[in-house]
Amino acid sequence: MCHRGHRQGELGQPQPSPLVELHDPRLSRAGVRLLLKRDDLIHPLLPGNKWRKLKYNLERAASLGHETLLTFGGAYSNHVRAVAAAGALLGVQTIGVIRGEEHLPLNDVLAAVTGHGMRLVYMDRTTYRAKSTTPVIEELRQRFGRFYLLPEGGSNELAVRGCAELPAEIDVPFNVICCPVGTGGTLAGIAAGLSAGQEALGFSVLRGGQFLADDVARLQTATYGEVTTNWVINHDFHSGGYAKRNAQLDAFIDDFAGRHGMKLDWVYVAKMMRGIFALMESGAFPKGTVIIAVVTGP
Ligand SMILES: *Cc1c(COP(=O)(O)O)cnc(C)c1O
Repeated sequence: MCHRGHRQGELGQPQPSPLVELHDPRLSRAGVRLLLKRDDLIHPLLPGNKWRKLKYNLERAASLGHETLLTFGGAYSNHVRAVAAAGALLGVQTIGVIRGEEHLPLNDVLAAVTGHGMRLVYMDRTTYRAKSTTPVIEELRQRFGRFYLLPEGGSNELAVRGCAELPAEIDVPFNVICCPVGTGGTLAGIAAGLSAGQEALGFSVLRGGQFLADDVARLQTATYGEVTTNWVINHDFHSGGYAKRNAQLDAFIDDFAGRHGMKLDWVYVAKMMRGIFALMESGAFPKGTVIIAVVTGP
């Protein structure tokens, strides 16, 4: 599996993703600067935070001599897609444990992952809820042998460390950095990578995602032994819940595309961006605030 200069056995070392300032009269009115950290451009096959979250995990898997990666996800998981692509690039086997039943024909994501050679296994929802418990993992080991396990969404300590490298790539002084929150690994890492006085603002894409604050705290504790106090999660812009959209979100996406020529991913990035603009227009950011919005994927 070759792609633009990436040879089998290596992921390719991306350049720091570009930082692009957004020009918009609403920003000028509020006296706020907004710069996009274009992580969606970081890697052609492993874009955005998925590349950052996998980087150290893939190194660890290789150093432990693993030849198989196993992970979990829903049928539309960007993480499962990224793991399949990484396996193809590195020449290791991949197994995707998918929540729920098989639906044929496969959707675009699952068709793409099988195209990368990923083996798909379906797990009923009750067992899936217990996927991090020893009995379920033991059964998978009996069935598939030795594998490197990546949790759902790829959020573990090594993923947090990968995401924590993002802030240091930004060479413009800023006050607030924003990202969408799915499982919280990205926010946990970004917040840990900030300098004194900077804050991270996560936008939950889940309905009822109040538990996410505990997950972010747990990830930071597991990684660093402590929780940083420089982050917060906003729950007001999920637009109905995970992979749900509503008319307001669609209108925001169309308007943004018209103004800036950029079609925002509606599952994650558009929800964050809509939140940033809504908060800004309600005066939540003092004049002079410099905001970074992490475009976590395409
Ligand atoms: C997976 C994903 C997220 C969620 O990241 P978490 O670390 O799980 O919170 C955000 N944005 C995009 C584009 C993603 O694909």
